[in-house]
Amino acid sequence: MVIVLEESITQDQSSALEAFLAEHHLGARRERGERYDVVVTTDNVEAGVPSGLADLPGVRTVVPITRSYLLASRDFRSGDTVVESGAVRVGTSRFVLFAGPCAVEDADQMEACAAAVKAAGGTVLRGGSFKPRTSPYSFQGLGEEGLRLHREAADRYGLLMMSEVLDREDLDLVAGYADILQVGSRNMQNFPLLKALGKQAKPIMLKRGLASTREEFLLAAEYILMGGNDQVVLCERGIRSFDPSLRNNLDLASVCLLKEMTHLPVVVDPSHATGTRSLVLPMARAAAAVGADGIMVEVHPAPERALSDGPQALHIEDLPVLARDLSAIAPLVGRIFGGDS
Ligand code: PEP
Ligand code: MN
Repeated sequence: MVIVLEESITQDQSSALEAFLAEHHLGARRERGERYDVVVTTDNVEAGVPSGLADLPGVRTVVPITRSYLLASRDFRSGDTVVESGAVRVGTSRFVLFAGPCAVEDADQMEACAAAVKAAGGTVLRGGSFKPRTSPYSFQGLGEEGLRLHREAADRYGLLMMSEVLDREDLDLVAGYADILQVGSRNMQNFPLLKALGKQAKPIMLKRGLASTREEFLLAAEYILMGGNDQVVLCERGIRSFDPSLRNNLDLASVCLLKEMTHLPVVVDPSHATGTRSLVLPMARAAAAVGADGIMVEVHPAPERALSDGPQALHIEDLPVLARDLSAIAPLVGRIFGGDS
């Protein structure tokens, strides 16, 4: 529930409210509102509104939660959240390109990718150094050495660095290098990790789970928001379907629906959504056309030798084509891509 406080609430009245909530085993956090501060209860929500709460001095009104997620919803914030890191802002009229290899492999690969991403108007260099691979026999990532190579390449080209964090154990290490922390599909419901990310001062890119509903996706975001970190970008990366001819099914309608359901920015990852290089550009164009706030694509200087996800990696030469198409499509939906950021 949301407890709307009187503007004139005193310290004593606040303390009495806190004690009342504690007595009813309701976790709570206070949020500054435009006019009135509100207290949002954060656990044991199913218990309903305890009697007497609405009559406490200093309480203006009590609004029960009518949907399972609140902080992520448009009911809570009607304007769009802008996620900011350095000079990059996601969730504005500027369409954002995140690009880079699936996995960081070596310095030459990162140099080639960073140069190409920068030249194409990209602003975030992606790359995994802790990889969530389906098979334990597959390349697992370079670990800290990869983070170092990634940071150096990003810095050489004035790009931001985004890297996946797999586990709470690696969080401090990854956050020590990366500007944006990525939570992969397989970890969308790693609740202890999400809670820890709620305490981070860095933006999070949260990818939709392989077979998650939109409600589950928003509830996962809610875990991060509840910890106090409202810098969350949602990423549609395709969901499992019955048809194995594509790696996943890109849920483009979801981009539009999510933007109605939530104030958080939504980007599309056409690389993992299709798993197929020839489909990445068309789906990237489609993502821009339906109003995504950005896209994330994988690129590799030699996809046939990539240590992971080669079949879906764009060639370096594809990036200028992508940039040209995004520049043409973005203005049709009221956005800008390219030029000075
Ligand atoms: C990735 O982006 O590197 C990745 C592993 O994607 P996903 O979690 O969507 O499978
Ligand atoms: Mn990948």
